[in-house]
Amino acid sequence: MANSQLAIGVDVGGTKVLGGVVDTSGKILRTFREETPLDGGDSLNRTIAKVIVELQKTHDTSAVGISAAGLISSDRATMLGAPNIKDWDGVNISQALREICQVNAIVENDANSAAWAERVYGAGRGAENVIMVTVGTGIGGAAVVDGKLLRGAHGTGAEFGHMRVVPDGNLCGCGIKGCFERYASGTALVIRTKEAITKNPKAGEALLALGDGTVAGLIGNHITQAAQSGDPMAIEALEIAGDWLGAGIATLAMLFDPAIVVIGGGVGDAGELLLAPARRAMEREMPFSGKHPVPEIVLAKLGNGAGLVGAADLARN
Ligand SMILES: [Zn+2]
Repeated sequence: MANSQLAIGVDVGGTKVLGGVVDTSGKILRTFREETPLDGGDSLNRTIAKVIVELQKTHDTSAVGISAAGLISSDRATMLGAPNIKDWDGVNISQALREICQVNAIVENDANSAAWAERVYGAGRGAENVIMVTVGTGIGGAAVVDGKLLRGAHGTGAEFGHMRVVPDGNLCGCGIKGCFERYASGTALVIRTKEAITKNPKAGEALLALGDGTVAGLIGNHITQAAQSGDPMAIEALEIAGDWLGAGIATLAMLFDPAIVVIGGGVGDAGELLLAPARRAMEREMPFSGKHPVPEIVLAKLGNGAGLVGAADLARN
């Protein structure tokens, strides 16, 4: 059994626990899902165990990796701080799973898991230096440096969303002002677009028509949709978001010197409408212009399965 090259990855989200059996080419052979229990903590550990045991019934596997949002200890066992899950802070998940279902599992941050999957099987395939920036409600980050996932001294490295880009800027949920994600995330995109519509309701009509007609009903998806059909206000909103993103990437390129920057998350669905302005801003804001090498900025390829595929692969290696 231990000879199997198959591994189980489990992606723990706020609403569902999605497990999958992953082969060495990154293919998901089978999935099994359960709802995330609202009371978190031990109930959640038991749900994860249930998903693992169910997948083990049909496939011989040799490793288990758990992908979850939050700060994870550098020994890949303990959840130091989970933003969306109740009663999980400080829980040694690996130990809990050993006790419940006699499985040895590693735990990895969700952004790290997804970046690893992209680096091994997706948009960053084959590159030794890759960073991933996940642009969604907030901004997640991960870095593969010289072929290794960067964890840092405490397992909490590469939190790009909270690097300060504006001194004394907008207050962030982390308690600090001026964080990158307050300017370049999907949330920032929606806030900025709502302000633009309030200032110029006529120009925002097409955008509002995609929702319930109110500014409050506007969501990020509407902006992408409207931009794709040529709406000038939506295109401009994505250009501004891409500009913030690219300027931030210039700083990250100075720190990590990646060959490839992979953009994931829901806002990435806008594709070139976001990436083209991001590339322009990165080149404009790059120190030592024309001399410092410029990374490629590309879209993530693996979609929602990346977290579980990456966690499975990290567990196997
Ligand atoms: Zn912050």
